[in-house]
Amino acid sequence: MKNEKAVVVFSGGQDSTTCLFWAKERFAEVIAVTFDYGQRHRLELECAADIARDLQVPHHILDMSLLNQLAPNALTRSDIEITEKEGQPPSTFVEGRNLLFLSFAAVLAKQYDARHIVTGVCETDFSGYPDCRDVFIKSLNVTLNLSMDTNFVIHTPLMWLDKAETWELADELGAFEYVRERTLTCYNGVKGDGCGECPACKLRQNGLQTYLARKEEK
Ligand SMILES: [Zn+2]
Repeated sequence: MKNEKAVVVFSGGQDSTTCLFWAKERFAEVIAVTFDYGQRHRLELECAADIARDLQVPHHILDMSLLNQLAPNALTRSDIEITEKEGQPPSTFVEGRNLLFLSFAAVLAKQYDARHIVTGVCETDFSGYPDCRDVFIKSLNVTLNLSMDTNFVIHTPLMWLDKAETWELADELGAFEYVRERTLTCYNGVKGDGCGECPACKLRQNGLQTYLARKEEK
């Protein structure tokens, strides 16, 4: 696949930045696409732009503010509290987000004549997001190919990894320090190791500590 192009769905967070490094190693040309849907923290978009610049990857920021018109949620609206209730998707869930993002990424990929689409979705830490599931991605892949009469391949390098293994992958790609320091995962908009308090930081920290402990054992 060294002579082929890939579009990476890219938010500037740990997962999609790891995917960007992964794609850069595999494809001749990589294009990053970020969706602006009125994120709580504009810093997220800046962070994504900085990383794309560092990695010398063309970067598109597409306006998806309509998503917030359809379904206001805790990721976009500061007056909605971030909560996680047993048996329910967390309040950060945006219905149909991956469906929409991947569909728009495919339209962009077609413009670039890129056959590959890369996304950091993951079923392992499945927290009630139905459109992160492998079966959904495979189904959408078929649908996109039928809709555009093309042969897209959607890659999900993180699909079966836990958070510790995602750190391991970043390390294997020589990007551990970069991902640790330069990405933004925190719901409170704190780069790198984050605020340490929000659900996203706790998940990221747990994974990091587990990975570092595993590495120590070896
Ligand atoms: Zn945080």
